[in-house]
Formats: sequence, structure tokens, C-alpha cells
Amino acid sequence: MYRNRVCMRVLAAILAAAIFPVVSLAQSTSPVAPRRQQVEAIVREAFDKYKSDTTGKNADYIPYLAQVNPKLFGIAIVTTDNQVLTMGDVNYSFSIQSISKVFTLALAMEELGPEKAFQRIGSEPTGRAFNSVNAVVDMPTHTGNPFVNAGAIATTSLINGKNEDEKWNTILAFYSKASGEKLALIDEVYKSEAATNTGNKALAMLLAKYERIYSDPFEAVDIYTKQCSVGVNAEQLARMGATLANNGVNPATGEQVIKREDIPYILSAMTMAGLYDASGSWAWHVGLPAKSGVGGGIVAVAPGKGAIAVFSPRLDEAGNSVKAQKVIEYVADHLDYNIFSPGSVGLK
Ligand code: GLU
Repeated sequence: MYRNRVCMRVLAAILAAAIFPVVSLAQSTSPVAPRRQQVEAIVREAFDKYKSDTTGKNADYIPYLAQVNPKLFGIAIVTTDNQVLTMGDVNYSFSIQSISKVFTLALAMEELGPEKAFQRIGSEPTGRAFNSVNAVVDMPTHTGNPFVNAGAIATTSLINGKNEDEKWNTILAFYSKASGEKLALIDEVYKSEAATNTGNKALAMLLAKYERIYSDPFEAVDIYTKQCSVGVNAEQLARMGATLANNGVNPATGEQVIKREDIPYILSAMTMAGLYDASGSWAWHVGLPAKSGVGGGIVAVAPGKGAIAVFSPRLDEAGNSVKAQKVIEYVADHLDYNIFSPGSVGLK
């Protein structure tokens, strides 16, 4: 009888360890992850402060994006110990758009390593619009960096696979692992963008002239268009960011999705060019590696702590969601997240 009880306890302990190992692992590796109560109050303040802000307007060069409800507003934080905090319209799936570029870069680095990825793409801010043809002509690398369209299409062209479908499925599976959930293409976004992406095709052909694209240019543009059309909600996006914050380990699944040694390169690229031509101003005011997309999402990463994702479709002149920037700045400021501030690692 006693032995049976001991056996049951041992079995229960083994089961618990199998179900909860991630939480204990993440907790032990993240002494600086913020406490939930602290974060909740700040996020609530930011949500209330900015919810009625109607500055900016939806992107309209992709027809689908023009008709997304501009009032949608969702915030999610996922910490490296997998605490989740959400507020507002967090179940709405929006298109990831340019934020996908971060994760395709991560995947290219899985396959090539950081040095080859750097040689093939580069990491210099262009000082031009994200879809600039002039930047491709003028920049010595032609590709610029992985977060302008030319560099991003070239990055997509580096992904291995027997054919287009296999490459696309590899990318989608990788994004899904980073978010910890099965993600899917929003077909309407893809169709809308595929019907209007002549500019991206022109960029790809220009890269071919300079021998800076590494597969068939139109195939690369098509896969790139699909990756931009992947649907995420704020929590899924925040968990993708938290995977970066947690040294490449998804805090919910415990899986090492991105190589630990690749993380600093990815975060440095996000700091240099994550918010289009407002990246310098963002680093100055907020001090967090982040990436923005014309769908209205921004994800910002606080290394070792977690990530915040905000979705709100109205964009400013630079193409960044107005509300998302304001909320992230407010939260980063109040929680001492700025990576350039010694306060972010506890120095008072
Ligand atoms: N799919 C969009 C494009 O290629 C992405 C732009 C963005 O989010 O910056 O124009």
C-alpha cells in the first residue's frame, strides 16, 4: 500500500516535470523577467491613455490593408518565463508583413551562419524608403539590410528547398515554431498583395542584375509575399519576440527555435533598421530592438525579459503604427526596458 503511494507520487512528479519543465527552466534562466502585477498596471495605463488616439491612417498601397478596421487595438506581453498579459483586440489575426523579415533572417542564419548571411545581405541602414529602387542602385551591397524589401527578398531567396512549395512550408513551419502555434497564410492578403507587387518584382530583377539574389527572382518575390501575408494575433507575435528575448528558446514550448549565437545579430539588425526611416529616432527614444510592419503590428524585444507586441492599423508618415509606438514607448519607459540604460539590468 505504502509502496503504491510512493509509486503514485513518483509518477505524479515525473508527469509534472514533463508538463511544466519549460516554466521552471525559463524562471531559473531569467532573473530579470518583470513581475506580472508591475507590468499589468503599466499596460493598463498605456491602453487607456492611447485607446482614443486616431492619429495616422491605414496603409493603402495594399488594397486589403486599407479596409482593415482602424479602431482595432491589441497589446500582448509574453515574458521569458512565459507569463502572458493581453489587452484589447488580441484575438484578431493581422498580417505580419515586414515583421516576417526578422524570422526569415533567423531561418537563413540557421542554414548559413551569421557571417555568410552578413556577406550575402549586409546590415547598413539605407536612409531611404523601405522599397527604394535608388537604394538598390546606390548601396555598395545593393541589398542594404535584411529589413528593407530588397534585402528581405534576397534573404528569402537564401532559404533552401527542392521547390517553391517546400521553401514556403519551411518558412511557415519556422514562424510557427517561434510563435508556439500553427500559423497560416491569410489568403485574401496574399491575393491582394500578389496583384499589386510590381515594385517588389522590379527590386528583385534589379538585384538579379547585381547578382545579389540567390534563387529565381520571381519565385523569391512570391514566397516573400506569402511570408508577409501570414496571420498572427498580438499574443502569437509577442511570443515570437519572447523567443528572441529568451536566447532563441520559445518560452511556451521550451524548443530552441533560433540558435543562441544568432540572437545578437538579429537584435542588432532590428535596432539599426527595424522601424524604417524612424529607426534612429526609435533607438533614441525607446532603446529596444523592434520590428514594425505596414499591417499595423510592432514587436519590441527586451533581451532576457520578454517582448511586447502591439497591433493598431493607423500608421504615421514613416509607416509605423502610431499607437503601437506610443504604447511600447510608455511601457519601456515605465519598466526600465531601454537596453542602453544601465537601469535595464538593475543598476540604480
Ligand atoms: N509586404 C509589404 C511590402 O512588401 C511589407 C512592407 C512592410 O511591412 O514594411 O511592401
